[in-house]
Amino acid sequence: MQSARLVVFDTTLRDGEQAPGFSLDVDQKVALALQLEALGVDVIEAGFPIASEADAEAVRRVALALHSTTVAALARCAAGDIDRAAWSIAPARRGRIHTFIATSDLHLERKLHLSREDALAAAVAAVTRARSYTDDVEFSAEDATRSDRDFLCTVVEAVIRAGATTVNLPDTVGYSTPDDLGGFFLDVMTRVPNADRAIFSTHCHDDLGLAVANSLAAIGAGARQVECTINGIGERAGNASLEEVVMATRVRPDRWPAETGIRTQALYATSRMLSDMTGERVQANKAIVGRNAFAHEAGIHQDGMLKDRRCYEIMRPEDVGVPRSTLVLGRHSGRHAVARRCAQLGLALNRQDLDRVYRVMVQRAERQRQIHDDDLLDIAAVELGVAPTTRRETMPHEAGYGFGV
Ligand code: MN
Repeated sequence: MQSARLVVFDTTLRDGEQAPGFSLDVDQKVALALQLEALGVDVIEAGFPIASEADAEAVRRVALALHSTTVAALARCAAGDIDRAAWSIAPARRGRIHTFIATSDLHLERKLHLSREDALAAAVAAVTRARSYTDDVEFSAEDATRSDRDFLCTVVEAVIRAGATTVNLPDTVGYSTPDDLGGFFLDVMTRVPNADRAIFSTHCHDDLGLAVANSLAAIGAGARQVECTINGIGERAGNASLEEVVMATRVRPDRWPAETGIRTQALYATSRMLSDMTGERVQANKAIVGRNAFAHEAGIHQDGMLKDRRCYEIMRPEDVGVPRSTLVLGRHSGRHAVARRCAQLGLALNRQDLDRVYRVMVQRAERQRQIHDDDLLDIAAVELGVAPTTRRETMPHEAGYGFGV
């Protein structure tokens, strides 16, 4: 299968930042934007300039700071919004205006009190106005997946004719399943006659825990831009997680022959930077960047890992910037892992000594959940009266990152 380029559109600074507990100040946004540029994302959505002075300022500062990455600003389909977005991205080397309007009857009738005809006219006018400022214009049909399909196709065809270069079809409320979304993209891209003149984009929310699966289904059906966030942060249950989508395409190119420009070795540092800034920690079992994502405690697993890591790992932790796999010592650990950890700490143990240390370690692990290096050294000192024979290495987890063999 021919591999296609997948545009990674990061909305951590907009959709992510809108979520409770994740607000960032202007300096933090600039720092994170530079990290995202280093990570290799293609587009950074930096804010919603009409929403506040601070948002407009942040987008402008990000636009000034970035070297090559496209900066996008969000705008409703209204002249004032478009003009404000244009002002914010003006200093950028590459700037995109991202304009949106809801297309579902539910949103049109209950939220906007707008007829379909008026929404269509507003969409076309907004895209036309945005194109007067930049030739990179994205249009989003909010609540696309719950919209009347015929009307949605009419809107998509019209905005492409008006000059939209990217068309985003969001699953705004996270209602779709992967089968739904794959079929939906195929259908719209087949029915819209000028679909080949725009890049189709997917934007999924995680209300049912399906944001990543849905995004991948859309990619499988032909979407060539994915909108996502670091750590999957975003409105309500969040957006599709950038690190998960990217690593799925990297680990399974047989399923998703789509290449990104992401330097995956920077994923972990980017994730940490965001959680350090917001104080919101990633859950321990989060895929790719969680504390336990590459941790192995069970004895059989640790033994297998030590013999050949491929027994229990489908990707290498260093490929995503995690220093190395963690073998957590606990009551499920085996002798082999204890011996190896002791050796790394400079304790050369004979079989008898190892048995004693192992027995005490298991007893202690009944009381405390995890055995750290200090515990192991303490046990060795008490049981054997020995001190480490060589200088201890400083393990990554001792620097506060929770990793180490
Ligand atoms: Mn969203």
